[in-house]
Amino acid sequence: MLTRLFRIHGMFVASHPWEVIVATVTLTICMMSMNMFTGNNQICGWNFDCPKFEEQVLSSDIIILTITRCIAIVYIYFQFQNLRQLGSKYILGIAGLFTIFSSFVFSTVVIHFLDKELTGLNEALPFFLLLIDLSKACALAKFALSSNSQDEVRENIAKGMAVLGPTFTLDALVECLVIGVGTMSGVRQLEIMCCFGCMSVLANYFVFMTFFPACVSLVLELSRESREGHPIWQLSHFARVLEEEEDNKPNPVSQRVKMIMSLGLVMVHAHSRWIADPASLNGTLDVPPVGISLNDHAPKRIDPDMPLWQFYLSRMISMDVEQVITLGLALFLAVKYIFFEQVEMESTLSLKVPNPSSMLTQRWSPDQCCRKEIAALPNKAEKTPTVPPVITKEERDLVIKPLPVMTDMPDPAPKSTFVVGDEESLDSPIVEELQPTIPQEPRTVDECLTILRNPEMGARYLSDAEVIILVNAKHIPGYKLEAMMENPERGVMIRRKMLSPKLPNDSALTCLPYKDYDYSQVMGTCCENVIGYMPVPVGVAGPLLLDGKQFQVPMATTEGCLVASTNRGCRAIALGGGASSRVLADGMTRGPVIRLPSACQAAEVKAWLESPEGFKCIKEAFDHTSRFARLEKLLIGLAARNLYIRFQSRTGDAMGMNMISKGTEQALARLKEEFPELQVLAVSGNYCTDKKPAAINWIEGRGKSVVCEATIPAKVVKEVLKTSTEALVDVNINKNLVGSAMAGSIGGYNAHAANIVTAIYIACGQDPAQTVGSSNCITLMEASGPTGEDLYISCTMPSIELGTVGGGTNLAPQQACLQMLGVQGASEAHPGENARQLARVVCTTVLAGELSLMAALAAGHLVKSHMTHNRSKANLQETPGTCTKQAS
Ligand code: NAP
Repeated sequence: MLTRLFRIHGMFVASHPWEVIVATVTLTICMMSMNMFTGNNQICGWNFDCPKFEEQVLSSDIIILTITRCIAIVYIYFQFQNLRQLGSKYILGIAGLFTIFSSFVFSTVVIHFLDKELTGLNEALPFFLLLIDLSKACALAKFALSSNSQDEVRENIAKGMAVLGPTFTLDALVECLVIGVGTMSGVRQLEIMCCFGCMSVLANYFVFMTFFPACVSLVLELSRESREGHPIWQLSHFARVLEEEEDNKPNPVSQRVKMIMSLGLVMVHAHSRWIADPASLNGTLDVPPVGISLNDHAPKRIDPDMPLWQFYLSRMISMDVEQVITLGLALFLAVKYIFFEQVEMESTLSLKVPNPSSMLTQRWSPDQCCRKEIAALPNKAEKTPTVPPVITKEERDLVIKPLPVMTDMPDPAPKSTFVVGDEESLDSPIVEELQPTIPQEPRTVDECLTILRNPEMGARYLSDAEVIILVNAKHIPGYKLEAMMENPERGVMIRRKMLSPKLPNDSALTCLPYKDYDYSQVMGTCCENVIGYMPVPVGVAGPLLLDGKQFQVPMATTEGCLVASTNRGCRAIALGGGASSRVLADGMTRGPVIRLPSACQAAEVKAWLESPEGFKCIKEAFDHTSRFARLEKLLIGLAARNLYIRFQSRTGDAMGMNMISKGTEQALARLKEEFPELQVLAVSGNYCTDKKPAAINWIEGRGKSVVCEATIPAKVVKEVLKTSTEALVDVNINKNLVGSAMAGSIGGYNAHAANIVTAIYIACGQDPAQTVGSSNCITLMEASGPTGEDLYISCTMPSIELGTVGGGTNLAPQQACLQMLGVQGASEAHPGENARQLARVVCTTVLAGELSLMAALAAGHLVKSHMTHNRSKANLQETPGTCTKQAS
């Protein structure tokens, strides 16, 4: 029954936080004003001249009093620290402080109404401070903080009230009765002090039962995400939310709040004007003039004849030693708390997690919660069902203390995200290294399996040897190592450990790095069975002056001379005024093979696909698979009853093979609905054609078809390229055109387009196998200009297959290279524009490479420069050199 009552009360307070807070504050202000207006001049203020008591104060008393005051201050400081462990540096602290303050005001007023004197309270105050116990605040806040939503906050506060309310009520009652005994002592000062103590306890209880839960509820509500996914009290958004609310109907909560405030103010006015002091009716001050005292023992107000700051300073200087000590300690602890404890960023109760877009819900999701981690530890305290445990610093120290004996520990030491339940865990989750104890000798397969399958333990609690045992016993699939370990790097390391003994040289992997790589971007996207990564040197060629813009082109290669040569080509282009380029076509292709019962039926399908309604039908099925893929063309070839359909589509900024394969599959499904007798032999029938030399790409184009051109003045040809236009044109005809024709080349009418394409592709995260088709290029040169000595050069590349999103472009180093060119990611304004720009850069860099290499050939410098820049300096007969050891 009592519990239900408290629960209802808790629910009410948590559901109406504004009303309760304003009511409590208003009541406090009213009491303060009554205190003032009733002329309570018995408390000795700064600007009062207080009469000294005649009785002699012993120095031992002063020491005891000073010590008590200091203890009280330190006690309050620790209470604040306790609150901070909940994640609140200020809000709960301030709420606690308000509890103290209002209980003081409340008690003072009540004592005053009882017509008691308050002299001597000065000495008693520290003892009252010791009565204040903010741990109640901690306990209740824990309930509120374990909620996932605002509704849950209210529910949990109600639950907290139901559980804690009766205990606190009883506590308050007992405290009152115990302290109340002093009121019957007959010793006047003790009676007053005890009376004040009782009032304090009652006020404390009242504020705790009303103001504090309302405060907690409000703070948690304010820290929820706003509609745009931001915390509501980020100021900019807060302002917007307020603006939005202006359009709404009058808010009933604010109406009620206003009414309570008005009521309070009316009381203040009424009391001050008609009840408190008749003098105030005449508009005069209620403070008696200097020299006229209301009471012989009352402190007299001083009207200073000096500037206020001087007055206060002089009074401060004249303070007693014990006052200085108390004040100094209070100041020291306040400064320490505010400035030297972990700095709090914004909301104090908002518990930040790495993903800022997720606030309350994620903050307290059990998966992320430290408590779960702690519970996972062997022999750790169990979770209590009612109050979520908060881990103290001591507990954390205990847990994260490095273990003395570590045997066969995973290398590198496994990291676990360990979020502790104090302030840091709430405001900024701290990540600690947690090293579980692992026995030296491997445990049995069953034991290891139990640990692995225990969601609260997992691979972190297994040694490398034990993981290998589980892999060999087929309990962990080898290809899933990265995914099943606590971090992918450990999975890679264990795979290397397992692989090394099987290699001809078991130290073969030593020089293949694997550490400090973001495998999360690789897993499930770029590579499987990963054993490391291959560092390739990246050079830069440029500036490449193209269409009026300069580009610095990244090239990943191990071929000496390549970057230098391309760079020379870029210089020649720039000195000639730059190159120009155009994208002629943009369409990736996929060419499945389907079979029909007869060639005639195959011909019918072909005719249907080529009809407008057939194409429309297939296009609909194709287009709805992607936001970017749009079917543009079908090219259909027939071989007996086999039908080859080359789907061609734009793919935005993606190279598009996955995208278009998906679309093709859907289109074929639709086609099968129309012609149920057809059979899809393969979604790729080599009619695309992907990653193989094929005339169809050369003739029809694939990916981006680009042309670029430049004119190199004769002077530049001579001074930079060290040859003549005539010689260049001659070599180009006889090498790139006739020579390639003699070789039966398709699309290979160039000197070394593949060199440049590959280097850029590797640097920029393209699919390197697509250099096969992408390097199709015809390089043409002509003599031009008024004298016929300038060089006109062009490169036409019909099938540059590339993209700036998807595949390897998602990896950070590759993205860096794309960023160098200003084409990383998706083009927001014009989807596909980044990929097209990259294709232009590729084509023009190829032109630069062609220019330089052809010049070297024409001048007879090729072999010489390769001997200088590309010949290995190392003695290849020697055993392989050592490298910085990476692997274990
Ligand atoms: P993808 O990463 O598979 O697809 C691109 C994704 O990016 C799509 O989900 C697309 O959205 C999205 N996207 C966002 N903004 C975009 C924009 N502005 N332009 C285009 N797409 C945007 O990439 P992919 O290029 O299709 O495939 C590349 C991968 O395929 C590479 O790893 C390559 O090695 C591999 N590959 C596959 C085959 C094969 O036969 N499947 C052949 C060769 C290579 P939507 O979902 O709306 O489309």
